[in-house]
Amino acid sequence: MERMALGMQRKMTVVGVDLGASNVRFILYSQGHEKSSLLVPLTARTPHDLEQLVVGGVRTMLSRGASCGLTVSAIGVGCAGLVNRERGVLVLPPNMPSIRNVAIGDAVRSATGLPSFVDNDGNCALLAESVSGVARGKRNVIMFAVGTGIGGALMLNGRLYTGRIGFAGEVGHIPVMRRGLRCGCGNIGCLETVASGTGIQHYVQRAAAGGAATAMSPTEMLSAVTIGECAKRGDHLAQRAFSRAAYYLGVAGAGLVNTLAPDMIVLGGGVSESGLLHVNMDRTLRAKSLSLIVESVSVVLAHNGSRAGAIGAACLAERLAGGQPLYLD
Ligand SMILES: [Zn+2]
Repeated sequence: MERMALGMQRKMTVVGVDLGASNVRFILYSQGHEKSSLLVPLTARTPHDLEQLVVGGVRTMLSRGASCGLTVSAIGVGCAGLVNRERGVLVLPPNMPSIRNVAIGDAVRSATGLPSFVDNDGNCALLAESVSGVARGKRNVIMFAVGTGIGGALMLNGRLYTGRIGFAGEVGHIPVMRRGLRCGCGNIGCLETVASGTGIQHYVQRAAAGGAATAMSPTEMLSAVTIGECAKRGDHLAQRAFSRAAYYLGVAGAGLVNTLAPDMIVLGGGVSESGLLHVNMDRTLRAKSLSLIVESVSVVLAHNGSRAGAIGAACLAERLAGGQPLYLD
């Protein structure tokens, strides 16, 4: 039964949509391969604009599919921010104060007549790694996605775990410091304030303003990507900022390892692609976890990079339209 369902799934053509903080990526995904893609800047200012932007991109992918003889069976949408997946509603997107409660699932479904599924982008990224990335075959996986903020997701016994109200896996809001910056969530000392791209920038800028020695220019301090390049060139302040971020990722990771005993921790997101976090995160995690639990666990860099959200959204559509269980309910 399971094998038959999997066979059916791989014959399917779907559209995956990654609705991020600044762009929307659309992919046409058929039999496990990306056939076409489209990246659109996120210009929407109202829920209606946002729905139309997503529907427009989906229509483009449907016609691209039709022109090469592929019929789309379902659509998956992964959204940054808080998502009510059962209702297909993007409740609270990041960085768009004028937009709340967008019924993305209904909008796509009524425009196309196709089954449409919506989830958080962290869950989609973890699903992408589980289907076609570093977590293939693993049943218990914790994902940290380090970008402008820190997202995350949990896979337990081969299913995504979303918790009582669907927002589980928010690893960026694990408190790690007694004092420190106020987080976007309102609390003080969340992991995200220390170890995200924004946290790294803030640390560097504050240390430089306080007289710390650095060869970085003020412009280079404006992005975690350029700070990472300076770290690789040997700048001590830049290196310290990344080691500090990795240390706190390891502290939060150790708490989760001791609690959940996973097979693997996947580290994704744009800031992790610097390659400057996973080794030190792994070291701290190993030092602070129970040795019997952590001995077979490692921190592994994600494989799908910036396409993880769209690939994962496509996998979401494949799995749910194929009637396969995905969530640990
Ligand atoms: Zn927070």
